[in-house]
Amino acid sequence: MPLEPDSIKWLTSHFKDSIKFDEPMSRHTHFKVGGPVDAFIAPESREDLTQLVIWTHSKGIPLLIIGDGTNLLVKDHGIRGIVVALVNCTKKISKKAGK
Ligand SMILES: Cc1cc2nc3c(=O)[nH]c(=O)nc-3n(C[C@H](O)[C@H](O)[C@H](O)COP(=O)(O)OP(=O)(O)OC[C@H]3O[C@@H](n4cnc5c(N)ncnc54)[C@H](O)[C@@H]3O)c2cc1C
Repeated sequence: MPLEPDSIKWLTSHFKDSIKFDEPMSRHTHFKVGGPVDAFIAPESREDLTQLVIWTHSKGIPLLIIGDGTNLLVKDHGIRGIVVALVNCTKKISKKAGK
């Protein structure tokens, strides 16, 4: 089921240009294959990621977490729900000194 208009409104108001609708997954897989996902986002911060996970869960919208798409094959008819790529918000992970 495609995203409801109020869901699109919420996503656009919270993530502005970083949320893409009907985004071809072929742009996010190493093998350049895959039809459109209802919404694609690469959150910039863990706060954005947390907010998105809580909201999708509350709305019952399917959420798929991906990394760089190097081990992913996506069908031509794409993915329903939201795909979240962690590429931006996990860049700053560092090992604490002495751990
Ligand atoms: C040319 C090439 C060479 C490769 N060589 C190797 C190799 O030598 N050794 C090797 O082990 N692998 C190799 N791989 C496979 C791939 O690089 C690894 O499997 C890599 O770990 C996949 O990471 P990714 O971030 O691209 O995952 P993705 O392709 O983005 O995701 C793979 C799966 O993991 C899930 N996933 C990703 N991130 C998360 C997360 N944070 N939480 C929950 N689920 C998650 C996704 O939903 C998906 O189901 C190779 C791939 C290619 C294309």
